[in-house]
Amino acid sequence: MAEKSVDAFLVFAPETRRYLVGFTGSNGQLWVTEDMPILLTDGRYAEQAAQQAGSIAKIVIYEKLETALKPLVARARRTAFESAAVNVRDWAKLSAAANCTEWIDGSDWIDELRAVKDDEEIAAIRAAVSIAESAYTKVTQTSLLGRSETDVALELEWNIRQSGSTKVPFDFIIASGKRSALPHGVAMRRTIHAGDPLTMDFGAEHSGYFSDMTFAGSVGREDPWLQSICNVLADAQAAAKAALRAGIPARDVDAAARAVITGAGWGDAFRHSLGHGVGMAVHEPPRLSPQSETVLKAGMVVTIEPGIYVPGRGGARLEDMMLVTESGAEPLTTIPKAYTVWD
Ligand code: ZN
Ligand code: ZN
Repeated sequence: MAEKSVDAFLVFAPETRRYLVGFTGSNGQLWVTEDMPILLTDGRYAEQAAQQAGSIAKIVIYEKLETALKPLVARARRTAFESAAVNVRDWAKLSAAANCTEWIDGSDWIDELRAVKDDEEIAAIRAAVSIAESAYTKVTQTSLLGRSETDVALELEWNIRQSGSTKVPFDFIIASGKRSALPHGVAMRRTIHAGDPLTMDFGAEHSGYFSDMTFAGSVGREDPWLQSICNVLADAQAAAKAALRAGIPARDVDAAARAVITGAGWGDAFRHSLGHGVGMAVHEPPRLSPQSETVLKAGMVVTIEPGIYVPGRGGARLEDMMLVTESGAEPLTTIPKAYTVWD
């Protein structure tokens, strides 16, 4: 903040709030200055806010945020805020009421801090990986044939929550048959048949940190076409993992995987970026994309998830999580990703 000559930072994002003072309520803002931070929230969270953040933040309970913020903002010449985490209507109301400061967009500042994980955060991510992998192992021990995508998604989620996750990072993607050509084919009522391609993309949560992983293969019997696609994806993953280390541009890691897929003739069928950061948000900086300007740092946690999608036929994606280190990268997911035939 001193570097950017701002006197205060107004936090709106729930993840940032939790990251800075540990408060997990659904509503609250954080006023950060040189002095003790102030956590602003409503009456529903008075007790929870005191328990979770009372030792490191002053708690202010409000009926109207504008009214509570006005006296604080009056003392700040320049104030940064997270434009990416507040909607236009709320912002119009707030900035009209608290207009005696110069508002500056600081959306990326805390994201940059959050992108580099410490040991405690990495341990939480490892625990979230372990919960999701155990659920996968359990669910795939019994046959998937004849079950609906929804049923498989629910059983994964049931196991994950039973193991301690208080939430799941997103609606699980269980995409079978031709639906596997949809990169984000959220589970539906479709029944899984013998010979179907199947993509399973899911994750778990531990202490506020997420995991994210994708398996791909066939159900009931082998599909040589899908197997050849998965082999290309596995090679693309290997190339990206070999390129991954602190100090290299994120787009170079995307390029390493993309070169393998393009070389195999599937360049046009890989229609998304290679990966993303994972932490308190399941999609957070850095982005591993052709447009990324980020240079990777040790402690960043990223996914490597190349995919090939052919409308009308099917598709596949393999997704692992990696920890960037000074000399390379360390896998966080432990079950190897390759073409799989499930019962
Ligand atoms: Zn995923
Ligand atoms: Zn992902």
